[in-house]
Amino acid sequence: MKRTLALWLLLAAPLAAEKRESVFYPLAVRDRAVVNARQHGWAAAIRKKAIADAARWLRMSDDELWREMFGPHITRSHMVWSSGHCPACRRPVPMYDWQIDAWAHPWKVRCPHCNELFPKNDFEAFYRSGLDERGVFDPKRADRTLLFNTEHPTPSDPFYRFGVDDGEGYVEGEKRWRFIGAYLLYGQWSQRIEAGLRNLATAYTVTGDRAYAHKAGVLLDRIADLWPSFDYATQGLVYERARYGGGVAGYVYYAITSAYTVMRLVSAYDKIFDGIRDDTSLVGFLRGKDPRKSSFAAIQRNIETNILHHVLENPRQIRTNYPGAERTLALTRTILEWPANRAQLRSDLDEIVRKGVAVDGLSGEKGLSSYAAIAPRELAEILAEYSHLDPGLLPYLLERNPKLRDTYRFHVDMWINREYYPNSGDAGSFARKLLEYPALTFNGPVYSLLGRLARVTRDPLYMQLAWMGNGGRAEGLPHDIFAEDPAGFAAEVKAAISRHGPWPAAASVNKKEWRIAILRHRTDPGSAVWLDYDSVPEGDLKSHYHFDAMNLGLYFGGLNLLPEFGYPAVQFGDWHTPQAIWHRKTAAHNTVVVDGRDQAGGPTECTLWNTGGPLQVIRASSPSQIKGSVYERTIAMIETGPTGYYVFDVFRVQGGKEHAKHTHTTFAEPTVFGVRLAPSPPLYDPGTLMRAFQTGRAAGPAWGVDWKIEDKYGYVQPPRDLHLRYTDLTRDAEAYTAESWTVASATSTTEYWIPTAIVRRRSDSGDLASTFVGLLDPYQGQPQLKRIARLDQDDAAVRVEVELSGGIRDRLLSNASGVTLERRDAEGKVIFTASATGR
Ligand SMILES: [Zn+2]
Ligand SMILES: [Zn+2]
Repeated sequence: MKRTLALWLLLAAPLAAEKRESVFYPLAVRDRAVVNARQHGWAAAIRKKAIADAARWLRMSDDELWREMFGPHITRSHMVWSSGHCPACRRPVPMYDWQIDAWAHPWKVRCPHCNELFPKNDFEAFYRSGLDERGVFDPKRADRTLLFNTEHPTPSDPFYRFGVDDGEGYVEGEKRWRFIGAYLLYGQWSQRIEAGLRNLATAYTVTGDRAYAHKAGVLLDRIADLWPSFDYATQGLVYERARYGGGVAGYVYYAITSAYTVMRLVSAYDKIFDGIRDDTSLVGFLRGKDPRKSSFAAIQRNIETNILHHVLENPRQIRTNYPGAERTLALTRTILEWPANRAQLRSDLDEIVRKGVAVDGLSGEKGLSSYAAIAPRELAEILAEYSHLDPGLLPYLLERNPKLRDTYRFHVDMWINREYYPNSGDAGSFARKLLEYPALTFNGPVYSLLGRLARVTRDPLYMQLAWMGNGGRAEGLPHDIFAEDPAGFAAEVKAAISRHGPWPAAASVNKKEWRIAILRHRTDPGSAVWLDYDSVPEGDLKSHYHFDAMNLGLYFGGLNLLPEFGYPAVQFGDWHTPQAIWHRKTAAHNTVVVDGRDQAGGPTECTLWNTGGPLQVIRASSPSQIKGSVYERTIAMIETGPTGYYVFDVFRVQGGKEHAKHTHTTFAEPTVFGVRLAPSPPLYDPGTLMRAFQTGRAAGPAWGVDWKIEDKYGYVQPPRDLHLRYTDLTRDAEAYTAESWTVASATSTTEYWIPTAIVRRRSDSGDLASTFVGLLDPYQGQPQLKRIARLDQDDAAVRVEVELSGGIRDRLLSNASGVTLERRDAEGKVIFTASATGR
């Protein structure tokens, strides 16, 4: 891991005196919860739910709780078998598809198809037989005569050993199912131990009832006993592999999850602190388990040394997506040292925010609707926590980091009709909508933060986000049982919505640092085109990107007609399989592949951005992607009416010997026109997951494909006859069609083959120059573009004329200075001209 400055600062700060009270939940805060629950129905509901959520653990005896925690001597596994199947019904059960309900079916996982439970042995009995004097499972002590299928208990029965797992998996020849290894993580730890601690701690903060703190204290102290013995790098598997990726560090879970686990452990400790510091019965119980625990100070030392300080000293065990580790370390120090470290903490948080908003308000991590939303979500939680503690913090951070004002606007600007995100990088599933705003987790503290942001910035956006997050109403806001003036907040939101409307107006938008732009139809929010113009990010965080520079997207009629393939298909055995690599490759995107290779990254810039009229244009350039001299795409969106539009696309490339422009659509039935095709060998090596290649030379200047769109997810009601018609006008090119592979989602094995058009040019010289000219006509019923003609002779200035219905003609010109449009009526009279030139 590249250690960040923030991390060093956090580690360098001195440790202050010992903790004396809860930092985030002192008595005054807990009292507010009690008062709010008395005064507001929504707050009473939060309290009631917290009590119900903790009831299961409150009922358990101290000893039962203490025995929940397990030790490190069973191999933990991130998946039962990442690309596996059910041993009973043999149907695929990849990745995280095994169902685990640790309360209904302890020590079992269930097949989602046939509902069979595994393992077939009574693992709990085997586990109990192997506990040593400290209560930790030792496989050498365990009674192996218990390892049989309890449904077939006769040794002569052929199923006697079927489905039996001794902790290291059920084995059939080469196959191994880590039922217990995965159960320990998702069942025993997450559902029974961590959930118990979290729910008990929350119940204490909203009720002030020490019984909850006591039970949480039993769990937390027991976790602390064993915590330093957990080391995922040497004890755990990811994709069936030990030391995956050179050794994924971590504690119970691998590091990416451990950061959040630690956050919850540390936060729970702070929540219950005031409730356990004078709890003599807790000391009494724990002394019975270990005579050294003769005072609360010894328990405090156990928890702080084995969890909090251990984490501060081993930050690589919580390495995760930015800024999860930094947040956890800051939180840990705060809980140990506040308020002595107030100044240090401000500078630590300033550093976290600076990096978290560096790229158009985001961290720069790709995966637009997934990983790219992590930093904003995390920042919100951090700011929500700390602005409570330090009321001057938010104005201070906003002044020092003006881009923080863009952070929550990014996923508003990028949301198309509040239905789709233009997914760049590892995000989303093929052609799927995303109906939830991903950059915030809407909960009480976050609502309260939105109120603070609105007051400091005077930007109505935050009130609109709160309104949307709450389902388009003010009732119940801010859902924060610790809020100081909840009724005042709800009234503020209501007032802002009546003044500014429920949602910001959407217009074309260009995120020049993130390097993605959306051209939006001026009157139809569902009509939009986007261009992603980088591949490898130029910022610090180079993760989750695809080799996708100049990738084009398009929405019309409620559907995504040029979808990104989405999150890599890791469910076929990890990130190194051909399936997982494919979604990242250049050929899997609607862009130009040069010499069959993936793009190389490098500087990229938007060289023309002209929007707001009936003709809107973006041009971007990045020749280093192909290590050539020209790689420039010019996209013009031309409106034809209150909903209709078409796209005029000129893609210039120079360098290399072979240029292939790919355009894959969504689920569709293709009809090819203007060319006769015959089967062809594949254009690429087998790592490019394409098939059914056909090729031919166009008879005239134009050829193309009309895709009749299949609305597989039933998004458009009533159904409509939607098409996307691609017409190509490129000179000296070969026409190809093929099918590109994809999969329903990153956890599904349902495969699809998506129709694809390829325009290919070749030369022997090695410095091929191409000008790809295309038109995209998304339409319902009849094509909008009745006739298409190319008027220029030499590619330097591309001139195209198209005829629309009613005899209207558009003359388009794309040259070095930009794009112009002249629209004439049937009589030849100019209706308007538009020009998008300059930068
Ligand atoms: Zn099954
Ligand atoms: Zn992609």
